[in-house]
Amino acid sequence: MASDEEEREYMRRMADALKSGAKMLADHCPVCNSPLFEINGEIWCLRCNKRVIKVRGDEDVDQALAGITLSEVSKALTAKLDALTSLLKKTGEINEIREITEAIKSILDALEKASKLQKDFTEKTR
Ligand SMILES: [Zn+2]
Repeated sequence: MASDEEEREYMRRMADALKSGAKMLADHCPVCNSPLFEINGEIWCLRCNKRVIKVRGDEDVDQALAGITLSEVSKALTAKLDALTSLLKKTGEINEIREITEAIKSILDALEKASKLQKDFTEKTR
């Protein structure tokens, strides 16, 4: 849920954009479902405050989302890693230790992949 302040900020960005000649597009941001804007030839979601890279068709949106989604993934993985670490500290059970270690290993793998993808994405949009 957006707070009042976020809502005002969004409205302000939208007003500024329209004042400077931005065009509201028929496409919507699949993250927040807000209309996308064309600003100086670039596509933006003003609510997410993210640039959408226009490739063609639906790909543009997917790529823009990648950055958002990946940071969510990393956040979730880090939280799970914390939880597993406290479990690991508590247990003395060899099978549990093995299971938890396996899980930690896959999370670390996934984290590494997510952060690598995120880096690729950030470099591409710059
Ligand atoms: Zn959005």
